[in-house]
Amino acid sequence: METLLLSTSDEDIALAAEMIKNGQVVGIPTETVYGLGADASNEEAVRSVFAAKGRPADNPLIVHLADFSHAVKYTSSIPELAYKLAERFCPGPLTMVLPKNERIPMVTSGGLDTVGIRVPSHKAMHRIIELSGCAIAAPSANTSGLPSPTSAEHVMRDMNGRIAAVVDGGQSEFGVESTVISFDGADAVRILRPGAVTREMLLEVCGEVVIDPAILHEVDAGAKVASPGMKYKHYSPKADIIMVEAAMDDFTALVGENYKDNVWALVFDGDENGFPYRNMTYGADSSGQAHWLFQRLRELDDLGAEKVYVRAPSTEGVGLAVYNRLIRAAGFEVIRI
Ligand code: AMP
Ligand code: MG
Repeated sequence: METLLLSTSDEDIALAAEMIKNGQVVGIPTETVYGLGADASNEEAVRSVFAAKGRPADNPLIVHLADFSHAVKYTSSIPELAYKLAERFCPGPLTMVLPKNERIPMVTSGGLDTVGIRVPSHKAMHRIIELSGCAIAAPSANTSGLPSPTSAEHVMRDMNGRIAAVVDGGQSEFGVESTVISFDGADAVRILRPGAVTREMLLEVCGEVVIDPAILHEVDAGAKVASPGMKYKHYSPKADIIMVEAAMDDFTALVGENYKDNVWALVFDGDENGFPYRNMTYGADSSGQAHWLFQRLRELDDLGAEKVYVRAPSTEGVGLAVYNRLIRAAGFEVIRI
């Protein structure tokens, strides 16, 4: 199959929407990362998404809608708190886990009786959903396990020949996947996956926000987790990633002791001044780090990096999302000095 590279012209957006309506899989831009979009109600199309990614069948797909009011069509009940959150955060990078109805097949929900619902803000994505008339199931458009794609070029690299088309909607704004939450009571939510909608932001609307322990800690093999994606090693480049929680002096000494060919450091903007070893920077603050992280992990692979020492990000605000992705990329290997 030849994978078409489409633009965000009216004509190309209409074509992408038509392809999805017809059961094909299309790489689509969103404000978080690129997705692999398919009609969420079409089992065959959804199976093609799992096949293209090599994704385990029990890892559910998020379903994308043009407006939160459409959620009634795909769910069996919606708590009052969800509407309040939607008013504040939809469209945007927030996914709410709700009880699904029969319009969402079990393949889409990874066998769960719930479905993650999101309303993306990216203009082209929004238009594709509207024109297709579908609820669009879309996981991140990477090969399962690799860093998520934040540009159309990343999607092409992973998916060329496996899907019908990719829509180039520019570099993803946030660079990390959506915040996923479930409901824990009338006024409480649980963060299953951190993203750009932070705990602090959710607390502006909810009385209580619990952070699921699986966000920062490895779950035991075979353990039941609230968010199936948390079980898998994820976001990993070919290089061995080692997270380091240390002041810059100690970090520099550690890299020095382990320095040889194909060893790299991934540090914050500004750290590179006077740092004597091969390095890349990934942003000055948490938002910048979220934006650049996956792009840098892919660049390090392109440069043949074998071992990468990464300065661990702050876990405040959006930093929690960056930390969560990195600790998985590192297979939970963290050095604390
Ligand atoms: P991705 O498709 O790559 O953005 O990953 C989606 C992730 O969202 C999954 O791996 C789950 O961790 C989470 N998720 C999606 N749907 C649900 C659901 N119904 N219940 C719990 N977690 C979900
Ligand atoms: Mg993913």
